[in-house]
Amino acid sequence: MKAKLPTQCPSCETLLSVSQLSCENCQTVVQGNYPLPVFLKLSPKQQEFILQFFLTSGSLKEMAAQLGVSYPTVRNQLDDMIQHIKDLNM
Ligand SMILES: [Zn+2]
Repeated sequence: MKAKLPTQCPSCETLLSVSQLSCENCQTVVQGNYPLPVFLKLSPKQQEFILQFFLTSGSLKEMAAQLGVSYPTVRNQLDDMIQHIKDLNM
């Protein structure tokens, strides 16, 4: 089973930060305190939406067809995501 990267504290649900990275080649370990990249702060569903958006070359019409929803629904989801990402970056 491929382990899934945890992004939220299992105890209090706060977003986790990165505190250790290691090199698979020489086992060097780097420690520090780094925030998660924006993409990883999104829910798996939101990440999937962005990948889908990219893979359809940004065609909301094609995304709507693939997801079986209306164009305005996808448009609203995109607007919500844009606002959410703007809020994360503030
Ligand atoms: Zn190394």
